[in-house]
Amino acid sequence: MTFSVLRFAPSPTGLLHIGNLRTALLNWMFARRSGGEVVLRFDDTDPERCKESYVHAIREDLAWAGLVADKEVRQSARVDAYSDAFERLRSKELVYPCYESAEEIERKRKALLTRRRPPIYDRAALKLRDAERAALEAEGRLPHWRFRLPSKQVQWVDLICGEQNLSTASLSDPVLRREDGHYLYMLPSVVDDIAMNITHVIRGADHLTNTAVQLCLIEAFESDAPVFAHHSLLLDEDGSKLSKRLEGLSLSQLRSGGIDSAALTSLLARLGSSENPKLMHSMEELAENFSLSNFSRAPVRFDTAALEALNSKLLHEMGFADAQPRLKTLGIEGDESFWNGVRGNLTRFDDALEWWQCVAEPLDPTMDTAKDGVLLEAAHSNLPPEPWGKNTYDEWITEVKRITGLSGRKLFLPLRLALTGKSHGPELRVLLLLLGRSKASARLSGERA
Ligand code: GLU
Repeated sequence: MTFSVLRFAPSPTGLLHIGNLRTALLNWMFARRSGGEVVLRFDDTDPERCKESYVHAIREDLAWAGLVADKEVRQSARVDAYSDAFERLRSKELVYPCYESAEEIERKRKALLTRRRPPIYDRAALKLRDAERAALEAEGRLPHWRFRLPSKQVQWVDLICGEQNLSTASLSDPVLRREDGHYLYMLPSVVDDIAMNITHVIRGADHLTNTAVQLCLIEAFESDAPVFAHHSLLLDEDGSKLSKRLEGLSLSQLRSGGIDSAALTSLLARLGSSENPKLMHSMEELAENFSLSNFSRAPVRFDTAALEALNSKLLHEMGFADAQPRLKTLGIEGDESFWNGVRGNLTRFDDALEWWQCVAEPLDPTMDTAKDGVLLEAAHSNLPPEPWGKNTYDEWITEVKRITGLSGRKLFLPLRLALTGKSHGPELRVLLLLLGRSKASARLSGERA
């Protein structure tokens, strides 16, 4: 096994969503599988957009998903390193000052697009003479700085996308430093990848062109490039680009909506690979059969139904000891028989509340006495005396069947509606015991109980 160092580099400008978690998982699984480590790197050089509250929320979400970083780094604490690197580029004349305002750049971009030309920066600033530059500075204009891309084909072998070949002629010289001296994403990312000896960069395919630029920067620093792997992007269920709705589906929303981290990570860890997702409970399990070579570059659909299926399976298998503290948080005082009785009907943990209210809180029974009067009367008057045990239900239902001659839906649906107010749910034999005699009796006679 070779030692690998990976990084997950969120910008704390918002909450983690499912797409981010998928990127994180691929990095973690790769590291754990290859005996390597993961650096959690906060790309937080933009003080206007980054918020401390998002840093906390991201840490919390990763912990919830079972992703523990080996090291944490804040880019905001490493600005000196970026300035050093910037000066090195400047001394080699690989960066140049530009004075266009944001509006001027936008105008140029639009003009090119109108002429159906790619909106590539025209390097006008590179052609400025010293006197022109001095005149602009005298006007009070401060420069932003662009990296001068070499003219070349950038090639690399991507672990997911295969051989890549991108001409720098199709790229704008990237802005590395803004007028106010802040460094944008590109330079800090490269400087850190080099300084932290990152061996593998795994991220979304939306970064493919960034990789071409970053490889040029790495070359300018005369460093070795990491291996890159760009995973496919997540699509919405209908096959369109991940919508605001799903993209906005933050992990904290899923968590508070009763989705378990193991269901989500089990799905995201295998989406886009040749393996079908199955329920896995730990990073060890997730990493066990993980291989990037199983992943395809084709975009992949996020499937809420698959997520819910995994979550249901997890809940159906969950023991009472794990469920109890969470039931308590929801205000549910049900015991083991409650949990064992209802867990098979849950998709999200919070669904347990519906069944707790059904068995523990007063409810108006639903009944059609004109149609089902005889059945309900027979059911009511033949409820066995207490104490109730495991044969109670069979004794009762056999008697009701015998008296009414009913069976199947005609028998069970009116009883279910009267006892629970619902047409679906856990088995009636489970519900009857959970309700107990006095509640069952009252509801069967049409009383609120
Ligand atoms: N902060 C960047 C992002 O969230 C990191 C991209 C990268 O992995 O280099 O998109």
